[in-house]
Amino acid sequence: MHPISHPPLVAVTATTEIIRGVARVRVNEAYTDALRTAGLLPLVVPPFGGDGADWLLDGVHGLVLTGGEDIAPSRYRAVPHPTVGPVHETRDECEIALVRGAHERGMPTLAICRGVQVANVALGGTLVQDIPSHRTHSIPHDPDAPRSDRVHEVSVVPGSRLAAALGTIRLVTNSFHHQSIDRVASDLRVNARTRDDVIEGVESEDARWWMLGVQWHPEELTATPEDWDRRLFAAFAERVVARAA
Ligand code: MN
Repeated sequence: MHPISHPPLVAVTATTEIIRGVARVRVNEAYTDALRTAGLLPLVVPPFGGDGADWLLDGVHGLVLTGGEDIAPSRYRAVPHPTVGPVHETRDECEIALVRGAHERGMPTLAICRGVQVANVALGGTLVQDIPSHRTHSIPHDPDAPRSDRVHEVSVVPGSRLAAALGTIRLVTNSFHHQSIDRVASDLRVNARTRDDVIEGVESEDARWWMLGVQWHPEELTATPEDWDRRLFAAFAERVVARAA
């Protein structure tokens, strides 16, 4: 085993967006800051379609799937609900290929918000296209609140990887989503829910694949007095470093 002289590289997915009239690759700096703080070197990956995912994964030691657009409902054989926002077909294709490649390789994977949804879809699961339309008694999951506001409770499944990472089975998180996981992919299991029965996280059942997904945004919560979200990044970093060694 060689000592690590550089932080391990982790691929971080991004979107493209027209900003001031120019198409740009974009990802919130909160993700890359949280990863750097955890001792990792983020490599921002633009949406590139499916080809090349294997090459890319050969060059990194971990994968982070970030938040963003709704996934095209055709990816899980559904007819679009009217509330589904503009989709990004190239990004969908890219991230689905990255999830499948990471799964095959047993590459440590952290999936956040859209990321947990795309991981579930890539492995054969489906989504609730709009929580308020689907459930009459849902709590607000997309309130008009600052990014770092903890707005609802989440119950974590005892004994899950998520519970071990967070160090708790009950926490309060931020929430910026109108969709959630519906049918869970066969290789994944639920690790967290809210009291309105919305799935707030899934993880891999495969002992060879450390994969954790959450519906909230831990990257926006790393400076709060509670250490749950710092612990989540630290748990991911521990697995990435072990793989890189
Ligand atoms: Mn939520």
